[in-house]
Amino acid sequence: MNLQSLLDKLALVAFGMTQREAWSKGICIECKQPALSKCHTGIGCNEYRISAICEECFDAWRERRDPACKSVIPARSTIQ
Ligand SMILES: [Zn+2]
Repeated sequence: MNLQSLLDKLALVAFGMTQREAWSKGICIECKQPALSKCHTGIGCNEYRISAICEECFDAWRERRDPACKSVIPARSTIQ
């Protein structure tokens, strides 16, 4: 099994679809909504190109994982 096959299997278990499927549909792998409408900065768009996760979901995940980051690192939606 190559790395991409492993990543596809993990994404299928975690999100019910692969990153390639999410990118091909233009949706976020996490919330399944159109990704461009939920990516508000260039950084957020780049994140979607890397992870298939929209900026809003990525920011929510980051804040759940480390609530202190909100006071140290501004949310992406506030960076222009
Ligand atoms: Zn999302």
